[in-house]
Amino acid sequence: MLDLINKTIYDCLDSREAPFDTADGFMKNLTLADREALIYALIVSSYGEEQDFNVTCTACSKNFTEKASLTQNVDIKLYEGKESLLKKKVDVVLPVSKYTVQLQMPTLWDEYVFANSRGVSPDVLRKADDYLVVKQLNIPSVDPKKPEEVKVLAITNIFEIYSYMRNMSPRDRKTIYSAWKENFGEYGLKIVIGTVCPHCGNRSDMYISMINELFRLSQ
Ligand SMILES: [Zn+2]
Repeated sequence: MLDLINKTIYDCLDSREAPFDTADGFMKNLTLADREALIYALIVSSYGEEQDFNVTCTACSKNFTEKASLTQNVDIKLYEGKESLLKKKVDVVLPVSKYTVQLQMPTLWDEYVFANSRGVSPDVLRKADDYLVVKQLNIPSVDPKKPEEVKVLAITNIFEIYSYMRNMSPRDRKTIYSAWKENFGEYGLKIVIGTVCPHCGNRSDMYISMINELFRLSQ
């Protein structure tokens, strides 16, 4: 399904200048945030700006539908730095494990490699944003016989990173998430709609993911 979405977006591009002139170049140079923006444009132009959203109330757990406009609830923040965001890397030392993680802006390629690793279920992939932001994991190891020598095991395979992160303490994961948000997370497009539950009156804000919307609308 992801492959199909990526291909559909690629086919929709009018002009394909380098590095977007090949499917591989496209995947390696388009971030997940860019794809959200392209899907947003695709959804608004093909399904209209008014959409019915399925909401599960956070207070009473009942379901209802909320009609909302995509264009009135979108917040777009463009990156204006000189350095390419794709080249930006940020190192963070984790408080519990003492591992160092190198954070990145994930591309479609990172997602593709992860999605095609053995043992990655659609359910894991849906939560993959957490794993994909980690480019490299450095694990220090000390030989008890030579305590002055600290060796570092560098892990770059996204599926191996995932295996380590699954067992990380919540505090370490929270540190990764906050650091990523601070350095990369503000760029892109955010759609948040205000909802009112007709069953209990609870008001809540719901974050809309464009890729999930596309899955839903194209079913
Ligand atoms: Zn409710």
